[in-house]
Amino acid sequence: MDFNQLIRPHILSLQPYSSARDEYSGSEGVFLDANENPFHSVSGNDFNRYPDPYQWEVKVKLAQLKGVKPENIFLGNGSDEPIDLLIKAICEPKESNIVIMPPTYGMYKVCADIQQVKIQQAPLSEEFEIDLDNVFDAVNTATKIIWVCSPNNPSGNLLDKSSIIQILKAFPEKIVVVDEAYIDFADTDSFLKELPNFENLVVLQTFSKAWGMAGLRLGVAYCHPTLIGILNKIKYPYNINILTQKELLKALDKEKEKNDLVAEINVLKDKLRDDLLKLEFTEKIFPSDSNMLLVRFKNAKAIFKYLLDQKIIVRDRTNVALCDDCLRISIGTKEENKALMESLSKYTK
Ligand SMILES: *Cc1c(COP(=O)(O)O)cnc(C)c1O
Repeated sequence: MDFNQLIRPHILSLQPYSSARDEYSGSEGVFLDANENPFHSVSGNDFNRYPDPYQWEVKVKLAQLKGVKPENIFLGNGSDEPIDLLIKAICEPKESNIVIMPPTYGMYKVCADIQQVKIQQAPLSEEFEIDLDNVFDAVNTATKIIWVCSPNNPSGNLLDKSSIIQILKAFPEKIVVVDEAYIDFADTDSFLKELPNFENLVVLQTFSKAWGMAGLRLGVAYCHPTLIGILNKIKYPYNINILTQKELLKALDKEKEKNDLVAEINVLKDKLRDDLLKLEFTEKIFPSDSNMLLVRFKNAKAIFKYLLDQKIIVRDRTNVALCDDCLRISIGTKEENKALMESLSKYTK
């Protein structure tokens, strides 16, 4: 892949902000260079020093866990940050386009809209599978990024691996992003394994779902080191705060706990599916490799409002492409799912 062709010229030549910690990154010394408070934080914690701008300690540990190199890792304030930065780095406003496969995660379009980057749609099939004809129709010479969400949000299913590989092979000079926010819940390998095979591949993961750390805001992009360098150049200098970095280091020692939580959620998912299927007004539950169920009801909007009145909040997807009469339900605890089912069992109309 020719990254010099891919990246916007002014980003290639951009002179980035050089922070105090860029200019001296050693950990020993008398630090009088960053205008920090030398005593302590008013909050009582040790937050008076700026964090490592490149989160090296965290990346080394995450790299071991994921079987990649630290140089393949970009950490962002949620996955939303790398989504935004990729578009900023690669797409020319009003010229370039991105290809999305609706129904899909909403942020690809929002970030493109903010930058005035055009959208080409390649809808999934009725069964929420990649439609390669739609993809090949949608891609043109102005296409810079193709977004694949697998397992897909809001449908919850994994997308066909061989179709994704075909897309990666067909467009070696375009970026193909595989958003794996829900991959921990799926019984399959991550596309991280394909990183050595495709320079145009970007894999997105997040600590917001299976790892249970949504409030900390930590998303990860794995890709070619050249592209990582570009993302580093345009990010805010200290984008991951010290607290988040410390908490992440702790969490990375406890992968088993994450796996146990995933196993528990998957059991609860199967039970909730069985229970929902017994309801007379449930029409269809789509296959899920994630921690959500997309459910088609006879009158989804009325059910959504009924649940809301009982303070049970699910996601109304009825206005989303291919999701007529569908609600998206996150898998809760045993008690939460029970509350949902008790409400639904009393629904009459
Ligand atoms: C939840 C989600 C994300 C993660 O967002 P964060 O900003 O990391 O919390 C990314 N992609 C998809 C498809 C999601 O559903």
